[in-house]
Amino acid sequence: MKILKFGGTSVGSAVRIKGLLEIVNPSERQIVVLSAVSGTTNALVEIGQAYANRDKQLAKQLILAHKEKYEELIKELFATEEGLKKGKGLIDHHFHIVENFANSDVFTPTEEKIILAQGELLSTALWHFHLEEIQVPSVLLPALDFMKIDEDNEPVVDYITAKLTPLLEEHPANTLFITQGYICRNSFGEVDNLRRGGSDYTASLIGAALRAQEVQIWTDIDGMHNNDPRIVKNTSPIANLSFDEAAELAYFGAKILHPQSVFPAQKYNVPVRLLNTMDPQAKGTLISKAGAEKGAIRAIAAKDGITAIHIHSSRMLLAYGFLRKVFEIFERYKTPIDMITTSEVAISLTIDDTSNLLEIIKEVELFGKVGVDEGQTIICVVGDFGVNTHGYAARVLDAVKHLPIRMISYGGSDYNVSILLDSKHKTEALRSLHNRLF
Ligand code: ADP
Ligand code: ASP
Ligand code: MG
Repeated sequence: MKILKFGGTSVGSAVRIKGLLEIVNPSERQIVVLSAVSGTTNALVEIGQAYANRDKQLAKQLILAHKEKYEELIKELFATEEGLKKGKGLIDHHFHIVENFANSDVFTPTEEKIILAQGELLSTALWHFHLEEIQVPSVLLPALDFMKIDEDNEPVVDYITAKLTPLLEEHPANTLFITQGYICRNSFGEVDNLRRGGSDYTASLIGAALRAQEVQIWTDIDGMHNNDPRIVKNTSPIANLSFDEAAELAYFGAKILHPQSVFPAQKYNVPVRLLNTMDPQAKGTLISKAGAEKGAIRAIAAKDGITAIHIHSSRMLLAYGFLRKVFEIFERYKTPIDMITTSEVAISLTIDDTSNLLEIIKEVELFGKVGVDEGQTIICVVGDFGVNTHGYAARVLDAVKHLPIRMISYGGSDYNVSILLDSKHKTEALRSLHNRLF
């Protein structure tokens, strides 16, 4: 079994949706995971915000404008009267769900997530109906029947295996299964999602749950590049990456992959291929256990929106248990820490989730003087930097020696050097590193 995921651009128009069959061979056993048509999730986010601000008029306008795009899309997608009628019914149904929140007095994050789910429900059903029209058999599997996260928002792989396996067994003669990326149910059984870009995560989770042969992430670029192509010119695709390297790059900002999407595949050793829908012959990137090229700098990524917290405390001097007490505060507020540096009397650490920052600072202040710097960026350089290698940290630092650096992290793993700097220096840092390291 293979899992193929197509992102928003790959299903971004009627032509692209029809073109999926140029890549998907319907007679091979596979699950195809689709994102929403590009632009849809952003539009749904805006509609949700309008409702949350009690601006029903704006919500209505946004819904109408977006619905029109789908009305145009189905005219191109379906060739028969019957197909078009089905497509129209589908759009009406999903937009009606979104419109209907105008009649409700409550609008909580749960209602918002129901709105966000409509994009993937629409794209998958549209393709399924199109396949039906051209008489290619396919089975639409509702992700809400098997994708689940627990109370800590962690996906439950065993649950996915237990629910998905019998669903597949109901159709022994079918080969092409279609499902929604991104959406899931939470521990209360409510509609939820795997965060923005989550369709990659869906594909990896299904790959893990079914111990698939391979997960393919089809997108609009020919694999993981060695730097952010939106910022740096002349980036190039990387043919092979280890799971660890890919996870590091995804986590630290390489938008091509959802930050958590490597872990499920890695756990069950399912190779992940990043491929280009616009250029299906391109080699792309293979992420696997073997992967890495030895003794080399592989790629650079950047993660914005970072807050650095500096804690200065003479009580730390020669004391044990100090770090635990500090970290426990972050744990209590379920706030992950990304980078840490320490000296004998001070520690600096970074977080990206600031929803409990004020409460955290109040508690940390009991230990000493606290400083906070917002608007920071982590630049992460990934490569083979094992204990027996030398010179890499110096090359990285040399490339950014003209910029003020807030933190440096080296030696945490064998494959990463990270630096923290003010986000206003990010572009220059990425370009300078690219020019000097590659
Ligand atoms: P999809 O909608 O298919 O999920 P995304 O927009 O989420 O696609 O991811 C693909 C985009 O990621 C590319 O178009 C590219 O601009 C961006 N990107 C950022 N960093 C990298 C990188 N290191 N390698 C490749 N693409 C990257
Ligand atoms: N449609 C969702 C988003 O735009 C999920 C995805 O595309 O991966 O974030
Ligand atoms: Mg994506």
